[in-house]
Amino acid sequence: MLKQLFKKVLRCILYAVVILGIFYYVSFKIQSTERVNTKGQYTIQLSNNNEKQDKKVYKDNTSLDDKNYVKANYNKYMEIYNNNKDTLILANRDNPLPTDYKPSLRHICNGRLEASNELYSSLVQMLADAKLQGYTYWISSAYRSAEKQQKLVDEDVYTCMANGMSYNDALEEVYKETMPAGCSEHQTGLALDILCSGNSVMDASQKDEPGNKWLRKNCYKYGFILRYPEDKSGITGINFEPWHFRYVGKEAAKFIMKSGITLEEFHMALEQNV
Ligand SMILES: [Zn+2]
Repeated sequence: MLKQLFKKVLRCILYAVVILGIFYYVSFKIQSTERVNTKGQYTIQLSNNNEKQDKKVYKDNTSLDDKNYVKANYNKYMEIYNNNKDTLILANRDNPLPTDYKPSLRHICNGRLEASNELYSSLVQMLADAKLQGYTYWISSAYRSAEKQQKLVDEDVYTCMANGMSYNDALEEVYKETMPAGCSEHQTGLALDILCSGNSVMDASQKDEPGNKWLRKNCYKYGFILRYPEDKSGITGINFEPWHFRYVGKEAAKFIMKSGITLEEFHMALEQNV
């Protein structure tokens, strides 16, 4: 009798062990699947206790949730904008510069060109550091007046018309690459076309030059951004220009380049939240 009771108790314990084993196995599987599903995100463990880990999954390392993320970034946008209003001025087809806009200029490149006072010391430093790495450049364009910009447009239109295009078609073609007068950021004095020594062709071949790669990688450290990136022509309205760099100041350049946004997107973000 006692023996049978003992056997029953033993069987119950055995069942309990098997059920608990299955339970732990299944819960371990679910945790593993969660880990796989959070690929691209990362998990922060708030406790070192291996048995009971208090985990929170974040979309990035800056915020607790989407709402706070947007708010935190918006505040950053505003802070950067307020600190750098002058250098963050937007000039494009939809945003012509004020007709009375007058940058304070100084000569660069031994008097060959003019550019904004704002960028001078940063440019000198950037070019000096690039030279230490063995890279030298030719700055082909810096500040352009509205009159000069109009002249460039007229010349290109004339060339297209000489090749048989109508005036309207020629103008449309030219505006794909060249901004109308008043809309070019070269008019701010804050933009530079920097070509690599040994390659004076202003086309996509610049991006394969080691000197251009160095500039694109390091320009933000000196306050410059690559203004018309390869994958953003739909936003900027300008084809990829690996040679065109725009000074916005160190704080803004770091934020823009590290965020992978354009100046247009920076301004859009400001407007969306105002
Ligand atoms: Zn340019």
